[in-house]
Amino acid sequence: MRVTHINLDAFMLKVARTREVEASCDDCAKHSARLIEALMQGNVQDQELLDILHHVLMCLPCSQEFQVLHDCARMDAEDSWPSMDEMWNQIDQAQ
Ligand SMILES: [Zn+2]
Repeated sequence: MRVTHINLDAFMLKVARTREVEASCDDCAKHSARLIEALMQGNVQDQELLDILHHVLMCLPCSQEFQVLHDCARMDAEDSWPSMDEMWNQIDQAQ
């Protein structure tokens, strides 16, 4: 049997349901902006956001993406965007 994308999704759903309610990468992508906002206000009380935060901490791709988003949000808030050169340096270092 060919494992199609849809079959895989159904499988993942089943796996997710066997565990405690846990956010998925999709949930994470959908709500990360809201979570960042809550984190910056130091006020994460929403159970849904806590589930997503838990996912971010457990999931490497999401944590990396979240780190970038969080950095952007922080720089936005502090109005401390680096110059183009500094950004390129950071990208070089990350590789
Ligand atoms: Zn994830």
